[in-house]
Amino acid sequence: MARPRPAPDPERYAACARCVQAYKPAARWPEGMVCQYCYLAAKRTEGSCAACDHRGVLPGRDAAGRATCRACSGITLNVDCVGCGREAELHSRERCWACVLNDQVRDLLTGPAGRVPEALEQLARALGGMPRANSGVTWLRSVRVQQLLRGMAAGTIPLTHEALDALPTSRTVEYIRGLLVEQAVLPRRDRRVADFERWLERRLATIERPEQHRTLERYARWHHLRRLRAQSATAPVSEAAFTRAKQCVTVAGQFLLWLTDGGLTLDQVRQQHIDQWYSHSTGTAVHVETFLYWARQQRLLPREITIPRRAKDAPVTLGEQQRLTALRAILVEDRSPLQVRVLAGLVLLFAQPVNRLTRLTVDDVDLTSEAVRIRFTRHWAEVPEPFASLLAAHVAARPNRSTAANATSHWLFPGTMPGQPLKPGYVTTLLSEAGVPALPTRAATWRQLARQAPPAILAEMLGASPSTAMRYAELAGADYLHYAAPVERREAGHRFAT
Ligand SMILES: [Zn+2]
Ligand SMILES: [Zn+2]
Ligand SMILES: [Zn+2]
Repeated sequence: MARPRPAPDPERYAACARCVQAYKPAARWPEGMVCQYCYLAAKRTEGSCAACDHRGVLPGRDAAGRATCRACSGITLNVDCVGCGREAELHSRERCWACVLNDQVRDLLTGPAGRVPEALEQLARALGGMPRANSGVTWLRSVRVQQLLRGMAAGTIPLTHEALDALPTSRTVEYIRGLLVEQAVLPRRDRRVADFERWLERRLATIERPEQHRTLERYARWHHLRRLRAQSATAPVSEAAFTRAKQCVTVAGQFLLWLTDGGLTLDQVRQQHIDQWYSHSTGTAVHVETFLYWARQQRLLPREITIPRRAKDAPVTLGEQQRLTALRAILVEDRSPLQVRVLAGLVLLFAQPVNRLTRLTVDDVDLTSEAVRIRFTRHWAEVPEPFASLLAAHVAARPNRSTAANATSHWLFPGTMPGQPLKPGYVTTLLSEAGVPALPTRAATWRQLARQAPPAILAEMLGASPSTAMRYAELAGADYLHYAAPVERREAGHRFAT
């Protein structure tokens, strides 16, 4: 980028014939003295001459201010490259920037045999032919870039993703990798791995403190990125693994920020701090554990730190509150269509993946026994109130059955297409609009939580007041008077599909 210009100096310089400012002169052209800025701009103007259509460098300006060639303007200027024969701004030794860039690239990529190795020929052409040659020349001045190119030419850096991964991470390495993939010298990597890399770059860019940045980058690359890459070697990385990696890095970043805010560095962390984080955290904050294990193993954290386990019998699991809030919103307060509330309830209570919900039929809901039951696999699960009434109301009034073909539909959630259930993608959209966290990423968590909330005590846990329960009862169209009575705690009678 051009540096800001100093103020014009009329004491020392006459006004430039072009910009009429008092800047240091660079040449006397037919129109008069031209300042260094206008001179540079003129040398870099390329196109077709307004007077003769000649294509090349156009340093002149006609009366209307249009660019003209050397012949038409009478300007003497050396812009003839001895390397490529084209008219262009010269860099050095009468060679243009593009030629110089190309020379430098080929020089750096020259291997032990005295020439550019076959495998690097395309890379040499791509780098040497960069559209903005002057940026390319500047880029090549970096010692890192030079080492990388020389290393590849010498064969000390093999042309593999792994070899590039082993280098200190930098934009340069990723840029070269991108070019090598573009030219099919390296195989294209998994889309989600690439997405994660891009996401990580943006995430890291938001971290101001160098120490935090370094730690998080190491963790993200050496733990998560490496795993995703290893996974992608055998099968495409799943959406769940991708999301989880992002979540872990995000939470680790929050943890580091929390430490910094408390004036602590990782090595100063003591058990009480870890316990504090866990006791005040909700929802996804438990995902810090992967980071803690990693940091302890890397000796960034004191070795004696104990990382809390997510015990099965923990009285209140982190994230539970979040789930109950979502449930309460859906069951008691929500005014969404009945169908959406039922879908949301099934997700929040039974941690079922959306594509299983859409395959349910009316035969999977049992309204004949004492308690409402539902089955996702072979096992029947008891449906807790107040959700049971909601589900029953839905069975009685399923939507999308007005078409002739769907009148006898057995799907629990009939779709708009005859004989088809709702599409899973559509359901996911409905749920996210209703503010229900997306499955399946949280499936394991929800499943664990649901186990800890026996259906019978759910109503109590929801904390609905008797009057709310009454209003709810009206909405659900059920006899709800008994709901005001305290609910007795008992064992969970339902099972979960795994
Ligand atoms: Zn000027
Ligand atoms: Zn001309
Ligand atoms: Zn040239």
